[in-house]
Amino acid sequence: MTVEVRFLGTGDAFASGGRSHACILVSAPEGRILLDCGGSSLPAIVRACDPGTIDAVAVTHLHGDHFGGLPYLVMQQKYAPRSRPLLVGGPPSLEERYLGSMRGLYLDFFHSPCPFDVRWSVLGPTPTKLGPAEISAHPVEHVPASEPHGFRVRIGGRLIAYSGDARWSAAIPPLADGADLFISETTTYSLPDPVHISAKELVSHRAELRCKRLVATHLGKDSVANVASLGLEHAEDGMAIEL
Ligand SMILES: [Zn+2]
Repeated sequence: MTVEVRFLGTGDAFASGGRSHACILVSAPEGRILLDCGGSSLPAIVRACDPGTIDAVAVTHLHGDHFGGLPYLVMQQKYAPRSRPLLVGGPPSLEERYLGSMRGLYLDFFHSPCPFDVRWSVLGPTPTKLGPAEISAHPVEHVPASEPHGFRVRIGGRLIAYSGDARWSAAIPPLADGADLFISETTTYSLPDPVHISAKELVSHRAELRCKRLVATHLGKDSVANVASLGLEHAEDGMAIEL
């Protein structure tokens, strides 16, 4: 049984190096789920698959480069048209923040009927079924107002861990523990950042990360400029790996 992880967007909030915002498409025999859906995700999603085949979206935290693409995905599916529900899970304020975004971006469409339901779940430490996956969400240290979480995602018999946006803390090793793949943000190469991990930190803590494979994503300006020296496997937009 194969699980495919396709990195649709591997950039930071500023699209450093021309990379799209955070979005990871996971495909398994049971179905498809997006991990994050940043503002610039829809073109990348459409290039990769029929968006109607996406069962669920899981959002790590409430920053636009991680959930700002949801209104565009829902709009695209409204006129596809989609009939089956779209399952969306994430932090407690996700539904409210999404509704505010949708109202601001498409006020006219916001008030018109939608042919499918968006079904909301709050993700927390207890594993929750979300479409083809079972996900637990664990607090990480990032901007508190964004309600930041990392994920442990069980799908197709594999375990994928994902940091979301986070600085290095004691929360990271348990998140990655036993994962077939740990996807970690690596916003900087060596520059200290109060809310993000550097490649140097990840390399220095590698032995604490008991995961089979580690892939760096969310590359900011400093990481893009030093991409050949990261000392880590890193993702590129469109790159796919099989587990
Ligand atoms: Zn981000």
